[in-house]
Amino acid sequence: MRNEGIGSWPERRLRSSPDRDAIWFEGVTTSHAGFAERVRRAAGALAALGVRAGERVAWTGGNHPSALETLYACGQLGAVWVPVNARLTVPEAQYVLEHSGASVLVHGRDHGELADALRDRLAGVRAFVAAEPPVAGGADSLPYEELLAEGPPEARDEPVALEDPCLVMYTSGTTGRPKGAVLTHGNMTWNATNQLLGMDLAADERTLALAPLFHIGGLNGTVNPTLLRGGCAVVVRRFDPAETLQVIEEQRVNSFFAVPTMLDAMSREPGFATRDLTALRTIGAAGAAVPLPTLRTWLDRGVTMQQCYGMTEAAPGCTVLDPADAERKVGSAGKPLFFTDLRVLRPDGTDAGVDEVGEVVVSGPNVMAGYWEDPEQTAAVLRDGWYHTGDAGSLDAEGYLYIRDRYKDMIISGGENVYPAEVESALLELPGVLEAAVIGVPDERWGEVGLAVVVPAPGAPEDPDGVRAALRERLAGFKVPRHVEFVDELPKTATGKIRKPDLRSRFTG
Ligand code: ATP
Ligand code: MG
Repeated sequence: MRNEGIGSWPERRLRSSPDRDAIWFEGVTTSHAGFAERVRRAAGALAALGVRAGERVAWTGGNHPSALETLYACGQLGAVWVPVNARLTVPEAQYVLEHSGASVLVHGRDHGELADALRDRLAGVRAFVAAEPPVAGGADSLPYEELLAEGPPEARDEPVALEDPCLVMYTSGTTGRPKGAVLTHGNMTWNATNQLLGMDLAADERTLALAPLFHIGGLNGTVNPTLLRGGCAVVVRRFDPAETLQVIEEQRVNSFFAVPTMLDAMSREPGFATRDLTALRTIGAAGAAVPLPTLRTWLDRGVTMQQCYGMTEAAPGCTVLDPADAERKVGSAGKPLFFTDLRVLRPDGTDAGVDEVGEVVVSGPNVMAGYWEDPEQTAAVLRDGWYHTGDAGSLDAEGYLYIRDRYKDMIISGGENVYPAEVESALLELPGVLEAAVIGVPDERWGEVGLAVVVPAPGAPEDPDGVRAALRERLAGFKVPRHVEFVDELPKTATGKIRKPDLRSRFTG
């Protein structure tokens, strides 16, 4: 095939295993042959809308097969897929669409009104397509299924190289404005290869597409590797802990990727103890370290955990912890994936010693080409072939990686470095604490001190001194936050990460 990119994957699967399940969504199963035909038709439909090689096609919505279909269809045209976080406000979505220069937006059923609002603001988008009949608004959006019915089912084989951009995926925006990571077809291929080598995924895998497909973990954690391998993506529209457990049981799900907060929420459901989880073999967890109590709860149900570390810029896999080490190395993100290299550097660029904290840098064929139309940010993070993650971490004597926190979030209090993640873990162990975030606030004497923002457990008293006293039993004095504030909820990104810039402006503004 002239197409070296991911657009060729459905065609190759059609050749090797057409009858296996590829997609399950709300009771409908599509085989790899059926999926390949829908991708061809989607490519035909996009071509009929005038989409050419190099053009950007945006997609937004709750998880839906159209995300995967349009991604692979873009791959067949040499066009670039731009997933847009479904929870963005109109101005935020407008920024991503304008910055990426998208000419088509495919949206889910809940985004008809967003499409209507964007239509007046974005001259550059010439077609809005509704993947499903919109719940509200979106009357002028073109119906996706009708476009597919008209799209010719013939195979196409455009010349697409591994170096060509496959998608522009915007980062979570945890630390500021999202950046558009350009991921090539090579990045996608090597990440999937890395994940297949590093994770325990079978040829007949049934993996849950649970985390948002517009984020890298949801898309490339287990879903795209499973499709490459010839397995099935069981697509769940949105995360609901009880419903997810039901789908896991009924669809005999073997694996999925999630962030620790999702795993914690599921383990609190009554269905967690009663649902049949015997098919479920492994969970890839990233975004943060899985707390030991959560890990044990799942291990007790016979499910192993593969702690991963990654980021949008690395498509995303960088490291994985072997399930055999899950308890022995709890808190570690494991070792680098097969084709990825990782170092921990001191500020002077030399390698940090054993257990010494420095900046984590990664390199490999999964690392992005750069940020979309942002040479300055690109030059700031891609240096000498290494991507500088901004994460503070250390390697132990056996080469296992421990992520402390983001450097941007580190608090320097009286000359001591405090990693908020460590303090947050201690807070979460307190029975009265449901959620917690720790930020640094200016202090005349210490330069900076910690401020803990706590969501109390239902019925728990709001007692700052009690919280501080309990922490003093677990942490060195300089790590104990000076201030404790109670709130009803924490500001979060779509993947459930706490938006600390919002907390800083609220509590220090
Ligand atoms: P932005 O770059 O826009 O601020 P973001 O960094 O949260 O947002 P992502 O690419 O979704 O966007 O997340 C990657 C980051 O998540 C990593 O750089 C790291 O800080 C954090 N992370 C990922 N895996 C782990 C892990 N196992 N332990 C701790 N932190 C992790
Ligand atoms: Mg980041």
